[in-house]
Amino acid sequence: MSKQMLDTAQSIIREAATRLGYDQKTIEALLEAEAEHIFEIEVSGQRYPAYRVQHNSKRGPYKGGIRFHAGVNIDEVRALATLMSLKTAAVGIPMGGGKGGVAVDPRKLSQAEIEQLSRSYAQHLAPHIGSNKDIPAPDVNTDGNIIDWMVDEYEKTIGKPDKGSFTGKTMQGGGSEGRIEATGRGGVIVLVEYLKAHGLLDKPLTVALQGFGNVGYFFAKVLKDYPNLKLVAVSNSKHTWVRQAGIDVENFTYKTGPTPRPEELKDLQDVETAEPESIISSKVDILVLAALEDAIDETNAGKVQAGVIVELANGPVTQIASKELLESGKVILPDVIANAGGVIVSYLEWDQNQKAEHWTEPAVNQKLTDILVPATQAMLDRATDKQLDLKQAAFEIAIERLI
Ligand code: NAD
Repeated sequence: MSKQMLDTAQSIIREAATRLGYDQKTIEALLEAEAEHIFEIEVSGQRYPAYRVQHNSKRGPYKGGIRFHAGVNIDEVRALATLMSLKTAAVGIPMGGGKGGVAVDPRKLSQAEIEQLSRSYAQHLAPHIGSNKDIPAPDVNTDGNIIDWMVDEYEKTIGKPDKGSFTGKTMQGGGSEGRIEATGRGGVIVLVEYLKAHGLLDKPLTVALQGFGNVGYFFAKVLKDYPNLKLVAVSNSKHTWVRQAGIDVENFTYKTGPTPRPEELKDLQDVETAEPESIISSKVDILVLAALEDAIDETNAGKVQAGVIVELANGPVTQIASKELLESGKVILPDVIANAGGVIVSYLEWDQNQKAEHWTEPAVNQKLTDILVPATQAMLDRATDKQLDLKQAAFEIAIERLI
């Protein structure tokens, strides 16, 4: 799976770079990571493989999350580091691309063991990271508390404060307003720019949303600012809920935790429930994918009825499925731009730390908009000028900046 993700990322880059006229040597150099750190962390007598891939730093320090998941392996980390270099370049922030992870199932560890794992990870990488070298952030199964432990351990190891060494910190730890909702908010900004550019924003449109976690929930919440865009279906790993009159996120009960997690609809009036998979075939104008990678592949691409697909998760449409959807005239707003809101606000958090400032949430949201809107417009313009699909257009812009 992860080897496939790496092959897919590399093949799109090769194709775009070749179209741009770069020679083979330059393209291969772009694909190569600048450094790879592969080590092991011992916790309670168990050894866990750990990784940090530093892919590209031509435009600024490496930037990318740390994942704690049993499935983490070097190919997955390489693929995600490569995609992060493309993402930071595509949106034009002065950061590079990196990614890290530990192959561990954190559900099998105690809190104390997770803290030990996090601290050991930061300590091992201390010589290679820092606010001017490599700035990790949370990703799957890591959060602000874990990042706070890492910052503390890193600062102890180097013997001085360096708040900008990690992003995604808790608010007490020096985090940014607006970070938790940034990816969902960014998805709405990109969708709205696309609809505006095609004169569709003032038409009533229906939306289905797969995945109701951190990203999906905040996407739905920010979408309420656009009454013409009506959310009519939502799914998580257990259900799809459909309500033609519209679904209000405030109408869900929540599981408590650092991020509120919608669980069940309170008011089931006029609501139909169905299997999770049925969200893909929803009869809507816009389908937003905010759950997992490979949600649409060759087995279900033919069932998609929406004309616009938004990739809020990383890689939710496989390459084969993408081709099929594009050939049938559908539009895919690609992950590299559609879910870049998170990394942009991470960059804004780093900027605040470096300047010893703390900005208000409206100020952070405005800066996010000021970065994401021109990046989206550049992608749309390039696609029109060169008759490319939107992913090809975004990759071309990123590759030109990286080379
Ligand atoms: P999350 O764990 O908070 O939420 C995932 C959601 O997907 C949950 O609601 C879960 O129930 C649902 N889900 C799982 N399997 C499903 C299925 N088969 N059908 C329908 N729903 C299903 O994760 P998240 O932080 O919201 O991230 C979602 C995606 O966005 C991931 O691909 C992640 O890599 C990507 N992403 C996240 C961020 C960020 O800032 N959190 C940034 C960029 C990209």
